[in-house]
Amino acid sequence: MAEMRPLIAGNWKMHGTTEALAEARALAGNLKADPTPPRVALCPPHTLVAQMAWALRGSQVEVGGQDCHVEPKGAFTGDVSAEMLADAGARLVIIAHSERRAAYGETDEIAADKTRAALRAGLEPIVCVGETLAEREAGNTLDVVGRQVRGSLPRELAGRAFAVAYEPVWAIGTGLTPTVAQIEEVHRAIRAILAEMFGAEGQGAPILYGGSVNPKNAAEILRVPEVGGALVGGASLKCADFEAIVRAA
Ligand code: PEP
Repeated sequence: MAEMRPLIAGNWKMHGTTEALAEARALAGNLKADPTPPRVALCPPHTLVAQMAWALRGSQVEVGGQDCHVEPKGAFTGDVSAEMLADAGARLVIIAHSERRAAYGETDEIAADKTRAALRAGLEPIVCVGETLAEREAGNTLDVVGRQVRGSLPRELAGRAFAVAYEPVWAIGTGLTPTVAQIEEVHRAIRAILAEMFGAEGQGAPILYGGSVNPKNAAEILRVPEVGGALVGGASLKCADFEAIVRAA
């Protein structure tokens, strides 16, 4: 099997107006000369997707959305469909980030429906899973993450490009990270479930780690077996920091 190319994806969350596109342009310019680049993606707020896709056209940096509705269109004020993201130039979309699970009650079932919507529109879903601190302290991490993976990944992913992002909720935006042994344990468990669900095809999907990845810890985390890339929040907003993480891959 061909070696999997790591995927380093930046999640800008609700940050960035037009002037922030300069960071994306700088990143694309600096990465141009890299002979063995990982896959790199930036997921800006919906308002910037089209402008960023245009600014980065022809570069190695892909653009993604941060969420999508399950329907292609309709009376859903404030929402954006996967088809609209694709039309704006997105290639990927983050699904069921823990902030959406917590703030908008997104369940595994909704995550699976949104993943189907992404596939319908030709987008590559990055499906997020991860335990809370209470769940980890209760010794339930593998049960929780296993249930999320089984429930959030629909069968329709077989044969399609997708990624899973393991993001412990307690590590997001806190500066805390699990030990490399803890990351490896969860990533191996997710890989085993992907193999069970999708057979050999499940081996090709990268499992990203997310949660306080920064230029200092990126190399160590990206070396962990079964870590196939990173989903990066805060450190993706500044070109220099995100570029350092990309170069650690
Ligand atoms: C995220 O929100 O997906 C994330 C990983 O954030 P941070 O890197 O800021 O912890």
